[in-house]
Amino acid sequence: MNIVTSLQEWRKIRKNLDKMIGFIPTMGHLHEGHLSLCERAKRETDITVVSIFVNPAQFNETQDFERYPRDLEADRRLLEQAKVDFLLAPSAHEIYPDQYQIQIMETELSQVLEGKFRPGHFNGMLTVVLKLLNLVQADLAYFGEKDYQQLLLIEKMVKAFFLDVQIVACQTVRDQHGLALSSRNARLNAEQKIKAASLHTVLKTTSDLKQAIDALNQIGFKVDYVEEKWQRRLAAVWLDEVRLIDNILLDKKEV
Ligand code: AMP
Repeated sequence: MNIVTSLQEWRKIRKNLDKMIGFIPTMGHLHEGHLSLCERAKRETDITVVSIFVNPAQFNETQDFERYPRDLEADRRLLEQAKVDFLLAPSAHEIYPDQYQIQIMETELSQVLEGKFRPGHFNGMLTVVLKLLNLVQADLAYFGEKDYQQLLLIEKMVKAFFLDVQIVACQTVRDQHGLALSSRNARLNAEQKIKAASLHTVLKTTSDLKQAIDALNQIGFKVDYVEEKWQRRLAAVWLDEVRLIDNILLDKKEV
């Protein structure tokens, strides 16, 4: 695997690639969820590019950004094993030469659910995804349904800006108890992980939103929201200091 940290070097390399490119943007601390996106890209394209960039612009709190788990060496090993071709790991300095003075803003979808609880988060996410899509010029870019609102916003941006890339939505990968894999889970101990998995169970087994919220409160989560939208039931909750998000497909239910 070729590790590229300089954008100038990457742009030189990119000019000489003329095969089908699959791109997976990530913030690192990789797990099976990320790797499932890589495997799919490996199957569907010729060259796989993964980016690792912990994007300061999409964190609401400095402390959350600072505490975000990072392990570039472990990530490198996993990506080597997955036979990824390029790892792009740029610096914030290079990604934001303008100190984030130019931003992408969506005014509708980004205002609900996550947007309400994390002001500015989606501006930061869309801005960095646009930059990365422009840099990589991939044929296909892979995103997880775990971050469902993010996925919808990226699809909307791609359409609005006539970007020449196909967005591929990938199913959420879970642990054996149903907990959606997430880099932030690294901050949960074994006991908390079991408790965290009940978020998925509650979303699946309760019949209405009030029941779901009551059940989550009972277990000891602090609920930011549980809502039904886009034929999904989506939730964000806190377990102690860690914020978890998840969503499930609502089968044939009217929403
Ligand atoms: P992140 O590193 O959290 O920014 O995630 C990078 C990409 O991996 C995003 O498209 C996520 O939606 C996706 N992803 C994260 N966790 C999972 C998971 N458990 N299953 C599938 N995709 C995931």
